[in-house]
Amino acid sequence: MEQPDIAQALERLVGPVEPEVGCDECFAELDRYVELELAGADANAAIPGLRAHLDGCPACREEHDSLVALVSAEQRRS
Ligand SMILES: [Zn+2]
Repeated sequence: MEQPDIAQALERLVGPVEPEVGCDECFAELDRYVELELAGADANAAIPGLRAHLDGCPACREEHDSLVALVSAEQRRS
């Protein structure tokens, strides 16, 4: 008798709907995300999953907020 692979079955069921974004990836893409956001572009479509990560991760959200403040201050200066 073969045991069904639960993890595999679950993965098939849930599926990779959106790429899972971790803190490292979030950090790597945050500059680009904030620039798109401030440019009025659809940052959520450009970098799928990052918005969801920010919503669920206070540390990255804080990083995002301070980056927004920094970049918008820079844009005002130039
Ligand atoms: Zn994070």
